[in-house]
Amino acid sequence: MIDLRSDTVTKPSDAMRKAMARAEVGDDVYGEDPTVNRLQDMVAAMFGKKAALFVPSGTMGNQLAIRLHTQPSQEVIVESTAHIVRYEQGAAGALAGVQLHWIAGNRGLISPEQVEAAIRPKEPNTVQTGLICLENTHNSGGGTIYPLATIERIRSVAATHGIPMHLDGARLFNAIVATTLPPASYAQHFDTLSVCLSKGLGAPAGSLLMMNDLTLLDRAKRVRRMYGGAMRQSGILAAAGIYALEHHIDRLKDDHDHAKRLARRLQQIPTVRVNAQDVDTNIVIFDVIGHRHNPPTIVAALKQEGLLINAIGGVSFRAVTHMDISSAMTDEACEIFARVLAD
Ligand SMILES: *Cc1c(COP(=O)(O)O)cnc(C)c1O
Repeated sequence: MIDLRSDTVTKPSDAMRKAMARAEVGDDVYGEDPTVNRLQDMVAAMFGKKAALFVPSGTMGNQLAIRLHTQPSQEVIVESTAHIVRYEQGAAGALAGVQLHWIAGNRGLISPEQVEAAIRPKEPNTVQTGLICLENTHNSGGGTIYPLATIERIRSVAATHGIPMHLDGARLFNAIVATTLPPASYAQHFDTLSVCLSKGLGAPAGSLLMMNDLTLLDRAKRVRRMYGGAMRQSGILAAAGIYALEHHIDRLKDDHDHAKRLARRLQQIPTVRVNAQDVDTNIVIFDVIGHRHNPPTIVAALKQEGLLINAIGGVSFRAVTHMDISSAMTDEACEIFARVLAD
């Protein structure tokens, strides 16, 4: 089966499992897991931040950030199809007591002018803006990369109004590899940022929330505990993360090449609407128009041929490349798409 549903479906390699089995561990609630500490130091140094905190999931990283930067009753500016909006079960409202102020982006990206217009005036009857969240790369936008210049300008708008910024960097490593920019060039513009080890990097679990402010770190540890994310001998998971950072970053380029190849093939199929030029990284979002089958039937027909993808609403589909998809599997996926979607 060729599984293009997500880059989260990767399984740890034998070498990664060996690193996990050998990991030196301790109780991380006491701060005594040497492997977790090493991972946190490594990631903080990589992104030029003072601290990184290991958390079980990307959702928890984002939710800690929202809780830390805001007061209940405030609102958070976020793009309308962001992971925080679509896939976190309303956690910002349920856990931090804030509302989300959605801005419709272009392939997931919002402009400094849109942010400026969305910031609420500081007057007593108006809800107050507590935080601005960006997502890079943008999942629902199709793995879109934020131009650094756009981020710089949004940061300057935020600074003028004294509003903190958080980056959902679940796939920031894809942006870093695709642009070859140093990790700190993105990180410097955010008060907090989260990165995932369990997406393209291929670790079984784990994310890191980074910051410069050590008071914020202390508070983050308390909220992590409150949200049920403080773990004990989590060095076993951290060891997988260290292995992933040491071996799986550069190879993300292969995933990007494979996604581009898929998009170029899809573009030739008459029922498919996609612009291969829009594929920045490892995600291909495309529409199927005028096909005799509806989306669930198309997904089932592809599955019958040995290819898994997700229907993501309306006539849209998402295919994601990752480390368990070889070049040969990419070619095979192209053929299956051509066969099934041509009907
Ligand atoms: C996957 C993902 C997350 C975090 O997801 P978890 O499943 O909670 O680890 C956050 N943001 C984006 C953009 C993602 O794609």
